[in-house]
Amino acid sequence: MTDFIPPAKPIIGAEERAAVDRVLRSGMLAQGPEVKAFEEEFSAHFGLGRACVAANSGTSGLHLGLLSSGVKAGDEVIVPSFTFAATCNSVALTGATPVFADIDADDFNLSPAAIEASITERTVGIMPVHLYGHPAKMDRIMVIADRHGIQVFEDAAQAHGASLNGTPVGAFGSFAMFSLYPTKNMTSGEGGMVSAATPEIERLMRLYRNQGMERQYHNEVVGFNARMTDIHAAIGREQLKKVGGWTAQRQANAAFLSANLTGVTTPPVAEGAVHVYHQYTVRVPEDRDGFAAALREEYNVGSGMFYPVPNHQLAPFRVDVDLPETARAAAECLSLPVHPSLSQGDLERIVTAVNALAAAGA
Ligand SMILES: *Cc1c(COP(=O)(O)O)cnc(C)c1O
Repeated sequence: MTDFIPPAKPIIGAEERAAVDRVLRSGMLAQGPEVKAFEEEFSAHFGLGRACVAANSGTSGLHLGLLSSGVKAGDEVIVPSFTFAATCNSVALTGATPVFADIDADDFNLSPAAIEASITERTVGIMPVHLYGHPAKMDRIMVIADRHGIQVFEDAAQAHGASLNGTPVGAFGSFAMFSLYPTKNMTSGEGGMVSAATPEIERLMRLYRNQGMERQYHNEVVGFNARMTDIHAAIGREQLKKVGGWTAQRQANAAFLSANLTGVTTPPVAEGAVHVYHQYTVRVPEDRDGFAAALREEYNVGSGMFYPVPNHQLAPFRVDVDLPETARAAAECLSLPVHPSLSQGDLERIVTAVNALAAAGA
């Protein structure tokens, strides 16, 4: 039997190990100079043109960003239901209500028309997710937000380096969060990086991250310990030097798959969009689950379903709304391996397997 092709594979090299060793030998492990350098290098690398604040996870980063943007109990924030639960959890943890809007079929991202239809007098913000690494329709979402006087919060957890019409994701909203979880396009072990549109949002995020203190024992607000360690930052700084090459490889892998797959719907890229392929997600209209099982059992090819249960059907969020494109995507989506460790032989095996299964099912 051929080797299993995993759906994701974090790449950790000698540079990351040496960086961790450097921090361990320094004896200073908690948030310090490595975190500060990582924040500055991250912003510069992705051309965000704004300050970044590191957190101990992406989810913490979303929570810090929402609190610092003034989101509170009684407010509503429009979110996709077709996303990872962290998007909705972070809104709910502020006391605000996540309001689920449908997605568009083309990019799996929030539909501008559905956003408009979901706005009420309690809506304070829209939180688009740049799902799979494809930018949400930010040009239209920013116009809607301006017209209604509400904010935009970006969940860029999966989209390091993505852009729309030359503007990087992470430079649109009041804040934007990039996750550094191991399966994301780059990692720090666990972690999140949050860009801030204003010095005040940046300052508040730093306060909430550290018990509400900017100066020690001069607490201003009720805060968390959501600090990143220097150990994790040191890993992230090394990954930052490599993520550009990995993204180019993801894009090349995706181009090969899109050119050669038949019988499944390959992911389109919008005009003006740079897709960084955190996931390469096809639609399998008939018996997606059986298709995934056969890929694994007959061809030893891994795959993922992101996400088979929409958030509005999860116990903490259950509401009776009709989101037809969300339901269809949850039933049809299948993410194939696209990570930068794939060999040409792996890519060919994926194509052979998918095309054979699609032909057999048709
Ligand atoms: C991974 C992810 C998060 C949360 O990030 P963590 O670093 O795992 O806390 C939030 N939103 C989306 C869309 C994600 O994929």
